[in-house]
Amino acid sequence: MLKVDSLVNLNELKLYINGEWKDAQSGEKFKVTNPSNGEVVAQVPKGGRIETREAIEAAGEAFKSWSKLTAAERGKFLLKICDLMHEYKDKLAEIMSMEMGKPFTEAQGEVFFAASYLEWFAEEGRRIYGETIPASAPDKRLAVIRQPIGVVAAITPWNFPLAMMTRKIGPAMAAGCTGIIKPAKQSPISALAFSKLVEMAGVPNGVVNVVTGDTGQISDEIFENRIVKKISFTGSTEVGKILVSKSAPQLKRLSLELGGHAPFIVFEDADLEEAAAGAVASKFRNTGQTCVCANRIYVQRSVMERFTALFVEKTKALKVGNSLDPCSEVGPLVSQDGIEKVEEHVQDAIAKGAQLLCGGKRLEGELSQGLFYEPTILGDVTNDMRITNEETFGPVAPIIPFDTEEEVIQFANDTIYGLAAYLYTQNASRLVRVSEALEFGIIGLNDAIPTVAQAPFGGIKESGMGREGGHQGIKDYLEEKYLSMKIQIH
Ligand code: NAP
Repeated sequence: MLKVDSLVNLNELKLYINGEWKDAQSGEKFKVTNPSNGEVVAQVPKGGRIETREAIEAAGEAFKSWSKLTAAERGKFLLKICDLMHEYKDKLAEIMSMEMGKPFTEAQGEVFFAASYLEWFAEEGRRIYGETIPASAPDKRLAVIRQPIGVVAAITPWNFPLAMMTRKIGPAMAAGCTGIIKPAKQSPISALAFSKLVEMAGVPNGVVNVVTGDTGQISDEIFENRIVKKISFTGSTEVGKILVSKSAPQLKRLSLELGGHAPFIVFEDADLEEAAAGAVASKFRNTGQTCVCANRIYVQRSVMERFTALFVEKTKALKVGNSLDPCSEVGPLVSQDGIEKVEEHVQDAIAKGAQLLCGGKRLEGELSQGLFYEPTILGDVTNDMRITNEETFGPVAPIIPFDTEEEVIQFANDTIYGLAAYLYTQNASRLVRVSEALEFGIIGLNDAIPTVAQAPFGGIKESGMGREGGHQGIKDYLEEKYLSMKIQIH
């Protein structure tokens, strides 16, 4: 437990506000437990309204000077944090593995992925260009300038504790904004470790603040405090909708990265070996707890048997184990609620006629203390089962047969979600046709892992609004201002 002491002292975790390490004024703390074994990892300060207000006011003060730096100067701080993330990759991965159960090797990958957003936006900040517009009169000059929006709040989930933070705070800082981060209750230590790197990088006080604690109080202050100009949220669609209504009184700018229910379509002309490997990577990464993970696997009937055999074989080969073991490929679920939802989806599907092809129960033996569920595949799944209609967020893959291209497009689009979709075929015309017909913000074409810092990530329909990453990702942190200037032409 004390192995990560050189980055954060797990016995003395504190909030990071205005460059200082502080306890909650109430002195209250909450526990973070390791889902691999149920042990308490650390106690974290339970901040509330007072601490949030202090952080917001500090960010407001810091904005005055941070926004005046050049983009190149701000970029240097981002690159320094990026370097530190690389240097401390093992510590950061260890924290992540302990607090939310991501397998260690995968967690190391997330550290690099998270750092890549800082590197990308450090450069992207230099490309916040304005515009000139042809005027309607000879003595007028028209222009559009882009300026930082001000203080921003980032509310982040536990499933990518570092990457969801850097994907928000990276572009915010690059644009000249300052802000406050409110991490999820299951992954607060990663956020506090990140703020330690912010401090080590010499980022001026108040530019980045991290407040852990009472979700309701923190979010009420964020939404009611007029200093906060924008909120960027990643999490469930359910909470996203609550935040839309909370943003109404002040019309606060809001970006939402919400839930998904990704179809993964395998046509009969696909490379089945590739498709099965892709399905395993997409479905079981982060123990099935990613917003873009394959949640409905549609397979053309003529190749069902061959695909299923390959998929089951590869899934059975996955090594499930304690998240800190570098050999583990699948870890525990993050919470009791999470594992119960998985069990309910499997039981509902079997009761309605699905066939259990592998897995199907919690792990027994030495891992029974943790929230482990066997990687599971269900066959003969139909459209009336819960798993076909709801985000499972766990290591369960339902396979659904289809006959025609038209039919599978209709199945795939029949959801409130529109985040990611995948399709496997060797037919180039079909790749284009089907990807244009799918109502999703991200499409992997023979590619199970499409997310990179330089591309826009985001959903349509009830999967959210706004884009993160790419050159698009900085726009949400900028205001456009139109200047109309009358001049003397003689
Ligand atoms: P969640 O329950 O919506 O929580 C996300 C964040 O919102 C946490 O920090 C949480 O704080 C906070 N929160 C919860 N209720 C709130 C409220 N009423 N007001 C303000 N903040 C509130 O989601 P989750 O279970 O942590 O994450 C899983 C979900 O995130 C899945 O649906 C997944 O698909 C989605 N996700 C989407 C993306 C994307 O980019 N589209 C990426 C990753 C995950 P507490 O933890 O303190 O409750």
